[in-house]
Amino acid sequence: MITKKGINASPGVAIGPAFVLDTEEYRIPQRTIDPAQIPAQVRNLDAALAASRQEVAELRAAAARKLGDETAVIFAFHEQFIADPKLRTSVVDAIEQQRHTAAYAFAQIMNQRQRLFRNVPDPYLKERVRDLFDIERRVLRHILGRAREDVARLTDPVIIVAEDITPSQAISLDRRHVLGFAINVGGQTSHMAIIARMLGIPAVVALGDVTADILGGETLIIDGSNGIVIADPDAESLARYQAQQHEYERLTTRLRALRDQPAITRDGVPAQLLANIEVPEEARIAFEFGAEGIGLYRTELLFLSSPRPPTEEQQYEAFRAVMRAAGDHPVIIRTLDLGADKLAPTMGGQHDHNPALGLRSLRYCLLHLDMFKVHLRAILRASVEGDMRIMFPMIATLMELRQAKTTLADVKEDLEEEGIPFRRDVPVGIMIETPAAAMLASIFTREAGFLSIGTNDLTQYTLAVDRANERVAHLYSAHNPAVIRLIHQVIRAARRRDVPVTLCGEMAGTPIYCQLLLGLGLQRLSMAPANIPLIKGVIRSTTMEHCQAIARKVMQFDGDRQVLNYLRDEFRGLDPEDET
Ligand code: PEP
Ligand code: MG
Repeated sequence: MITKKGINASPGVAIGPAFVLDTEEYRIPQRTIDPAQIPAQVRNLDAALAASRQEVAELRAAAARKLGDETAVIFAFHEQFIADPKLRTSVVDAIEQQRHTAAYAFAQIMNQRQRLFRNVPDPYLKERVRDLFDIERRVLRHILGRAREDVARLTDPVIIVAEDITPSQAISLDRRHVLGFAINVGGQTSHMAIIARMLGIPAVVALGDVTADILGGETLIIDGSNGIVIADPDAESLARYQAQQHEYERLTTRLRALRDQPAITRDGVPAQLLANIEVPEEARIAFEFGAEGIGLYRTELLFLSSPRPPTEEQQYEAFRAVMRAAGDHPVIIRTLDLGADKLAPTMGGQHDHNPALGLRSLRYCLLHLDMFKVHLRAILRASVEGDMRIMFPMIATLMELRQAKTTLADVKEDLEEEGIPFRRDVPVGIMIETPAAAMLASIFTREAGFLSIGTNDLTQYTLAVDRANERVAHLYSAHNPAVIRLIHQVIRAARRRDVPVTLCGEMAGTPIYCQLLLGLGLQRLSMAPANIPLIKGVIRSTTMEHCQAIARKVMQFDGDRQVLNYLRDEFRGLDPEDET
């Protein structure tokens, strides 16, 4: 039994076989072969080893020519490794004795070797693990040839173990067959984590090297609520987690029954709970969870999942589908927020050194006006379907908002000239996710129809902590007094001018923050659909008076630990199941 601790990214317990996804998306299923297939598998292995050796020899010669012998040594190591008869013998043994495919047997043996190298104290040898990955990739490419399998076509329920999952991979995974995620990198608000919560799939991130410890096929337990992963659990742990899984499901079913109940505190103050969605199909799910509207539609996912930018028609169809699913409920469509950890294939290979501070989001759109205008046309055309609002992300200066509004006005003019219907009075709002926008919130309220506080980015920028970097994840906290003060400032500015304000970062769907946010004056929260029942349970079991007392107290704290401990205690005192 191996236990690993990471960061809780999506709650719930999952139990199932591990499925290790390598970074090149190879899917190497554990399949038993017929004895008659053994010679063909061995031939496939030999051909792949020979081809890989040849490639490496060529690389070594080229490296020696261009970069000198020192670099060529790296490839000499690869060549020796591949040519080592012991390597071949171990793989052939696994094929013959365990009747594994050549690909599976090779991947298993390489995994064992990587573990050996990782555990040696010599730093030089430790570093060679990277080379082993490289070798593995190369040989597998030859073994699998064109037969690479697609992760989108999983056939059995599995727990995905991976270095990382890109948002486009995550949405193309067949969610019926994904029970949980165990991921090497990331943090609570990295987009992978957000998508796992959106899909309602338990996930643990920031596990370091979980991909090296898990071979694939063994039983895994994912405790997404506490950030724990257990491989090969003993009978006692298995039984304990099965009971927890059952209890979690019972609680969520119980809370789902609140669907048609209003989100109202015990002393009669109503709140509006909205949903964050990423793909149109999710709108329906959001309303099943009791959402009163869509508070954040992350449109960029459309761009992440295809190699070409979606056409105006494709975008229009997606937006119209969301509007139709929402009926009379409001829908806040956020304009493209590409960049940082959401890189679309169409953005080209240029990478900023500091992507979160680079050419992302609205900045990118304002530099690619043709693409942005197509996007805005599609949004405006869908506006006739219902109560739509448009929101610009990543605003840092008033000038950006003005430029974005001018572009929107240009697009409206074009549509008008072409006689294409759209709603002229669509409200236009902004996300407050940079400290600059938070500090100037009162000024922004003069030009923005509504504000939505994006605490995922606001926390990252306020504390200068990359939200997707597990090495600084311990420094990332939305409950830091600096972040809370900025949130408070924004709410006050909005209320003073009667401008609607929502909070749509992950904080909104996190139960321990709920009383604080209500107490700070927020009445609209937007979150992953699956969190709505629990947050509603919290609201229905507290009073506004108590929430305000909590907020007053929190505003006096000067450290995030203090805030967290206090909020935890306050949350423990509640029973979201017992609100009547
Ligand atoms: C945020 O930054 O809080 C937010 C909601 O936007 P995203 O997570 O998509 O960056
Ligand atoms: Mg953001």
